[in-house]
Amino acid sequence: MAALKAAHDGVRCCSRCGAFTTAESDPCETCTDETRDGSLLCVVEDPADIVSVESSGAFRGRYHTLGGKLSPTRHMGPEKLRIAQLVSRVKGEGVREVLLALSTDMDGDATAGYIAEVLRDSEVKVTRLAFGLPADSGIAYSDPLTLKRAIVGRREA
Ligand SMILES: [Zn+2]
Repeated sequence: MAALKAAHDGVRCCSRCGAFTTAESDPCETCTDETRDGSLLCVVEDPADIVSVESSGAFRGRYHTLGGKLSPTRHMGPEKLRIAQLVSRVKGEGVREVLLALSTDMDGDATAGYIAEVLRDSEVKVTRLAFGLPADSGIAYSDPLTLKRAIVGRREA
C-alpha cells in the first residue's frame, strides 16, 4: 500500500535509512540532520513507522528501515530484509545503541532476536521498546503517548 502510493507521488525511499524521501534529497533530511544523535539508531519495519516514532517526540536519533520482518510462514528470510545494510551502518557510523521498534507479535520477536544475535559481536547496545504497546500489533497502531513511554522505558534486548 505505502509503496504503491509512494511510486504514484514520485516519492522514493532513502538509500541510507529507507524512509520516504525524494530523488532530490537522498540521503533524506533525517539522515543529513546534524542536530540528530547519529550514535542512536532506531530500527523499524516500514517507512510509515518512522512517522509514528517521530510523532511521539521521544526520539532524536536516526532510523533504519528493514522493509518488513522475518516470517517463516511468508518466506521472509533475513536476505530479504535490509539487515546487512544495518550491520554495515552500525560499523561505519559509530552507532552506540540500536533501538528495535518492531511489532509485538511472534515475527517481530523473532526479528529482534535475530538482529540482536547478528550484532552480538559489535560493541553496540541493542534495546527494545518497553512493554506497554498492545500485543500483536505494529507500532503504527500506537498512540504517541504510549509510544513515547515505550521509547523512554526501553530495555536491553
Ligand atoms: Zn534517510
